[in-house]
Amino acid sequence: MKYDRVYNFSAGPAMMPEPVLEEIAAEVLNYKGSGMSVMEMSHRSKVFQQIYDEAVADLRELMGIPENYKVFFVQGGGTLQFAMVPMNLLRDGVGCYVETGTWSSKAISEAKKYGEVKIVASSKDKNFSYIPDCSDLDIPDNADYVYICENETINGTTFKQLPNTKGKVLISDQSSMFLSKPCNVEDYGLIWAGVQKNVGPAGMAVVIIREDLIPEDMPAFAPIYMSYKIQAEKGSMYNTPNTWAIYCCGKVFKYLLANGGLEAMQAKNEAKAKIFYDFLDQSNLFSGNVNPADRSLMNCTFTTGSEEEDAAVVAATKAAGFDNLKGHRSVGGLRASIYNAMPQEGVEALVEFLKDYEAKK
Ligand SMILES: *Cc1c(COP(=O)(O)O)cnc(C)c1O
Repeated sequence: MKYDRVYNFSAGPAMMPEPVLEEIAAEVLNYKGSGMSVMEMSHRSKVFQQIYDEAVADLRELMGIPENYKVFFVQGGGTLQFAMVPMNLLRDGVGCYVETGTWSSKAISEAKKYGEVKIVASSKDKNFSYIPDCSDLDIPDNADYVYICENETINGTTFKQLPNTKGKVLISDQSSMFLSKPCNVEDYGLIWAGVQKNVGPAGMAVVIIREDLIPEDMPAFAPIYMSYKIQAEKGSMYNTPNTWAIYCCGKVFKYLLANGGLEAMQAKNEAKAKIFYDFLDQSNLFSGNVNPADRSLMNCTFTTGSEEEDAAVVAATKAAGFDNLKGHRSVGGLRASIYNAMPQEGVEALVEFLKDYEAKK
């Protein structure tokens, strides 16, 4: 390979498209004749404002975000949104949560600090290995919203069908599936995503929220930074935003637009996931961790069933140029994260390697 890079199966921060990294490298000392790097530039400058405006416009085009939705970037990664959502939207009612794994569980514990929370469905009984039936949830009349983590990065499950929210607002954590396939934004009141999984550098989240849901006021204790109203009104610039992450994400948005948009990404991602799961389904050594119907397109969790053998696989794959196949420390096993930037050849090469590994057993 040109830069001696490995196939990086990290769940996040994760691979970025090589052509994007090349562009960033070319601009790092002097961004388009400005005489400086984007890292060194005022966020109030004209040149940065243009980077910002293009990033938002390109994201709007990619996802087909309707006019009545606000788009902004917030620091604090994914985790800050666990608090920001209830601080803004859990008021006198109930926050309904679907509990499907690590990230929805974290969102639930955080929300409980700010108001009444109801778990309306859960897959905890089977180690979060499936997505519960959400077609007829018991949602109270005074529900403020229904919250899901649409793709559970650590457990490896994804919603193939959105919950029936009985007319209540749907909020989705799309961190590890953001821009992996087309999304009908109007199905949601709020979508947020930490960008370091499928888009850019860590430390920032994108928030897409329907205008009429943005509250006028906030709890008195809430830091001003946590206000969706402030973030929306100030165009992510109440204070100094994560300019570098915004710039890198903007590059990825342009790259996706130039490469067929989200339909093309979906086709590629489905093809890659099929290669991997077809391999798992015929393997005698490896098996998948989750209900096949609920498998994630992005995070493929699997195991040999033995901790020692899994560790041996991690070591052998790493030595062969396939990095970061260790499952999350909280669940163990193995995980191949195959986001947009992972080429099909990477998945094919990994499958070949694992087949060979198995054959030599
Ligand atoms: C990684 C991740 C988060 C947390 O993101 P941080 O930026 O580390 O706070 C939240 N939700 C999902 C689905 C994730 O994959």
